[in-house]
Amino acid sequence: MGVSVLPSHPLSKVLAEVFGYTGFREGQQQVIDAVAAGRDALVLMPTGGGKSLCYQLPAIQSDGLTVVISPLISLMQDQVEALQAMGVAAAALHNGMSSEEAAAISQQLQENAIRLLYVSPERALQPYFTRQLQQWPVQLIAIDEAHCISQWGHDFRPEYGQLGSLREMLPQVPFMALTATADAATQADIASRLHLHDPVIYKGSFDRPNIRYVVEDKYKPQKQVRDYIARQRGASGIVYCGSRKKVEDLAEKLHQDGIKAAAYHAGLDHKIREQVLRGFVRDDIDVVVATVAFGMGINKPNVRFVVHFDVPRSVEAYYQETGRAGRDGLPAEALLLYDPSDAAWIRSIINEQADEDRRRVEQHKFAAMQSLGEGQTCRRLMLLNYFNEYRDNACGNCDICLDPPRQYDGTVDAQKVLSCIYRVEQRFGMNHVIDVLRGSKSQRLTELGHQQLSTYGIGAEQSHEYWLAVTRQLIHRGLVVQNIQQYGVLQLTQAARQVLKGEVALQLAEPRINLVVSKPRVAD
Ligand code: ADP
Ligand code: ZN
Repeated sequence: MGVSVLPSHPLSKVLAEVFGYTGFREGQQQVIDAVAAGRDALVLMPTGGGKSLCYQLPAIQSDGLTVVISPLISLMQDQVEALQAMGVAAAALHNGMSSEEAAAISQQLQENAIRLLYVSPERALQPYFTRQLQQWPVQLIAIDEAHCISQWGHDFRPEYGQLGSLREMLPQVPFMALTATADAATQADIASRLHLHDPVIYKGSFDRPNIRYVVEDKYKPQKQVRDYIARQRGASGIVYCGSRKKVEDLAEKLHQDGIKAAAYHAGLDHKIREQVLRGFVRDDIDVVVATVAFGMGINKPNVRFVVHFDVPRSVEAYYQETGRAGRDGLPAEALLLYDPSDAAWIRSIINEQADEDRRRVEQHKFAAMQSLGEGQTCRRLMLLNYFNEYRDNACGNCDICLDPPRQYDGTVDAQKVLSCIYRVEQRFGMNHVIDVLRGSKSQRLTELGHQQLSTYGIGAEQSHEYWLAVTRQLIHRGLVVQNIQQYGVLQLTQAARQVLKGEVALQLAEPRINLVVSKPRVAD
């Protein structure tokens, strides 16, 4: 996100005086010039790319009214407050306010005393409101989160779908649609539903080159995260967990480690959440352990790392959450702890959904996330590819690029695991099978008589994580299934036979243990 200094641009004075910026970010000037020329625009910029300026600056500089359609009341209010603090006449109208409040704003609108009006899509479509709109000197309609217009987007909202009718009422007014996520189908759909006329399309790169993407096998997640954070030496970061309980447990553990950490989730009191957010922004809190509820309104440039304790449900979510790191452009890291059995669990939850369309979309989105986690190619290429940004060169700044997986003849390793699963009669889960392989002296093994098995201790020379990585690959290759209906017991498939009998050789990826994150787990 480079900034270009263009003192000659007619708007650079407003840019400096009102916003305090020294130049435009990539794309902003093109979009603003398009508005000045009266053209429609479709703006695709990543989160944090600076979309709001594209309509705020033309609005401030004009003497007419710019209407911004936005889906979230809290977001509208944040923007309105920020603008008012800069001395800009901005207001919001939504169905969550009293009729007195709404009347006062209407009065100001009548007097043309407002430059920027934020409205919810419901409000924008009310006949009373649209009649008024036709009388006011509207000079631009900006539609934020425009992907909500399209059924192809990941967050379709029916009232957004009807916004095209506004265009018919205001044929002379330029429309600007803005979004941070839209694949090609969604883009085309947005343009057609809004009846955009030959729009100027600006598509910024979604790459965040300063973020290093790292995926690590998840085996002892709490310990992995604690070790990781201990090495960050007070840097600012966010850890996303899949449940409130995990959030609280981990925040507590980090406290014990002497880390300035706090928990954040939707079940906490509003005041506490505010405190955490404020403490984080002011660097009083170093690490926020949170559910996805922690997102909106984090405008903190120096977040150095984002950890995913659990795999997100979509690449969009992963991208948005990791995107909170490194907004200042300095090096930052996104660490995903990935466990294929988490993925199996999420797939089963998705499959339970009654609504078939929704289920299909979610399955599709999660499958993409899963291949990002399990893939053996450059993470950034996969990520950008998902957003239809194609490149040839691997990035050099992800775990795969920095330490490419090596293939080896894994036949013997595979045979050890497969025969061990067979010896425990396909009735035990991954950790137990590995304990037998490594010759654990645990009481449970003794009670079960598993030290007597011929496979006991045949894998003692390798770590627990090593065998975890091998076993997960066997699952991935279809030689073993993990039966999630039965506590995750491992069972052999037909394909396992050939490998067990030595009829075929098996190439495996060399386990990449503790590449960036943790020290090996010591034997039990
Ligand atoms: P988006 O809506 O695309 O997610 P925002 O409009 O909220 O992004 O902008 C992200 C951040 O970038 C904000 O903190 C904003 O103040 C800052 N920003 C936007 N444009 C510029 C600019 N030209 N120069 C410096 N900072 C900018
Ligand atoms: Zn890479």
